Amino acid sequence: MKLLNWLRRRGTAQPSRTVIVELPPVDLTTRIVVPKVMPRTDLPEFCVESFAEIVDLRPLAAEVLADQPVPVAIDVETLARLCVKGFAGRYIRVAEYPPGVDREAVKRMIWRVTRWEAWPRRSAQAQRTAGAFPKRLFRCSEDCCPGARAMDGLVVPVNEVVRLPLKECWDHRCECDYRLVKRDGSVV
Ligand SMILES: [Zn+2]
Repeated sequence: MKLLNWLRRRGTAQPSRTVIVELPPVDLTTRIVVPKVMPRTDLPEFCVESFAEIVDLRPLAAEVLADQPVPVAIDVETLARLCVKGFAGRYIRVAEYPPGVDREAVKRMIWRVTRWEAWPRRSAQAQRTAGAFPKRLFRCSEDCCPGARAMDGLVVPVNEVVRLPLKECWDHRCECDYRLVKRDGSVV
């Protein structure tokens, strides 16, 4: 209403007509932000840099491929190459998958390789905090395999935690994890 009154007072336009209001210029220039940490481009093929270590993803890719419950038509090197991209969070184009391959199955394998790759460091970190949290409580995610379900609620000493996702768990995104257990038995 205020605007209409203002327009009437100014006598520049009838309320029913289109009013063209000139806005102050807006700066729409796009800025390209360069990330501070650029991914390294000098790494050997199939390798990633993980916590200052250069890790070849082929052995893990081979292990995951061998475990895959339904055969997937992909070879270790192609999988490892895709894992390197997945590890860096880079988008994998459809054309980069072998033709006719079950892409969802491949994505699941990439994710598993990435999680397993981090496992040695996770367990090393667990060992370091073992003084305050000597045990871990296993919690399985909602749609988990019978193996994970059977372990749900299990409290294990820190040096006995098994790698996640469990070998037999092929849940799309297994979210099984451990929670810290304090010396007095309470769960963090
Ligand atoms: Zn699971």
